[in-house]
Amino acid sequence: MGRKRKRVVHIPKKRLPKFFSCPKCGRETVGVKISRDVARAIAGCSSCGLNEDFPIKPAQTEVDIYCLLTDKVFSSPKKNLVSKTQNDS
Ligand SMILES: [Zn+2]
Repeated sequence: MGRKRKRVVHIPKKRLPKFFSCPKCGRETVGVKISRDVARAIAGCSSCGLNEDFPIKPAQTEVDIYCLLTDKVFSSPKKNLVSKTQNDS
């Protein structure tokens, strides 16, 4: 009887994910913030504290920054990333 069904369905649109998986701790907590004004981007993980900033080109997007981040993490020795949290010599 005139029952209006208002279904609230969240259909994820095809868009970039807001968070990426962290190359360091594996959680999906890496956010990329692009500051086009200064042509820089900051990629940071809210779980493990990984944080890097990169100079960017206008055409680069969040995904590109994320790639830069993973490259940087995987190409640098872990001791530099975990600077003084774990001091096992
Ligand atoms: Zn992390």
